Amino acid sequence: MSEPCLPIAAGPAPRRGSRIMRVVWDACEVRVGGDAPVVVQSMTNTDTADAGATADQVAALARAGSELVRITVDTPAAAAAVPAIRERLDRRGVAVPLVGDFHYNGHKLLAQFPECAQALSKYRINPGNVGTGRARDDNFAQMIDVACRQGRPVRIGVNWGSLDQTVLARLMDENAARARPWDARAVMREALVASAIDSARRAEALGLPGDAICLSAKVSNVQDLVAVYRALAARCDWPLHLGLTEAGMGSKGIVASSAAIAVLLQQGIGDTIRVSLTPEPGGDRTTEVVVAQEILQTMGLRAFTPLVVACPGCGRTSSTFFQELAASIQGWLREQMPAWKARYPGVESMQVAVMGCVVNGPGESRHADVGISLPGADEAPVAPVFVDGQRTVTLKGARIAEEFQAIVEDYVRRRYGVARQR
Ligand code: SF4
Repeated sequence: MSEPCLPIAAGPAPRRGSRIMRVVWDACEVRVGGDAPVVVQSMTNTDTADAGATADQVAALARAGSELVRITVDTPAAAAAVPAIRERLDRRGVAVPLVGDFHYNGHKLLAQFPECAQALSKYRINPGNVGTGRARDDNFAQMIDVACRQGRPVRIGVNWGSLDQTVLARLMDENAARARPWDARAVMREALVASAIDSARRAEALGLPGDAICLSAKVSNVQDLVAVYRALAARCDWPLHLGLTEAGMGSKGIVASSAAIAVLLQQGIGDTIRVSLTPEPGGDRTTEVVVAQEILQTMGLRAFTPLVVACPGCGRTSSTFFQELAASIQGWLREQMPAWKARYPGVESMQVAVMGCVVNGPGESRHADVGISLPGADEAPVAPVFVDGQRTVTLKGARIAEEFQAIVEDYVRRRYGVARQR
């Protein structure tokens, strides 16, 4: 066996250099691109015309950690409700910038409802849904004109479900003239990239500053998405918004989004992300925010909330107690974060381990900041606790969960409270 001559390196490729776009509401400024942290965003699924329900959901998404929230603006009633939504959020102290999602009639709504245009911090324009023929260019120009006058940035958001047919037809013709034509899917990928870049260039030519533009080109297939974004990253320096469109429900949606987004982030591509999950009926919309945060945190790109490392359990697991403890500690940590964030800076990077038996329990617990190794089958009914790699106490009896939580709380106070006073 040969000796290693270099250490085994880990970590993502350096972020691709891009311009920085600023999305602002009041005192809240979200920077997208450049060296800014990758931004988490989400979208409501309420009827925007219902200002109360939409403001409630925006507030819930922002509380969960969404740094930008997009809302549908599809009708005059929805456009008229946007200032009221903004006002309700401001009254509640929720300064998260709102992004308006426009299709088909955005040019009319932005012109007819200037207070809506003003209450939104950014506009999303889909160049495939702004009209056809001459109207397409005029409508696009009208929306860019509003963005320039209001000083608002724009996301040029292309989607393969609503691809600009003019661009696609042109590329199909060019392809037909090739000696060796590409397959139809490759033409579609090229059309997505070309539509996004052509539209951004047009927006710049119409007067929108280059640092007020970001791009997205969403598809629902992981390999297509990776290919399209790699091409975008190579051909332009506008910030890129990543997301797999129509990712689906439950584990399928989470896995597909994570696979696509993680591959690109690892290559240094992506400045903001959204995980487009279909919620279960009656499900919680904020799940998409938690998943987005966990993608970034598990990749070591950002930290949002202390994470619990837990083993999967196996034939050595003596009961469901360790699963319950892992779940309750994770839920409790997440609940504490709104208060802890200000009081204990750095706590979001803490790692807690909850392990099911002696095989990997002590080792994994030593790697965590605080860990507990619960007794497996046939082990003595005691649970050693490790703090900063050192075994400290051994818990037993009916109050292991409460006592372990108290140890974690004490650790947070001592370690991160001290950091704040320095
Ligand atoms: S730590 Fe123990 S209980 Fe957990 S998976 Fe490993 S062997 Fe099984």
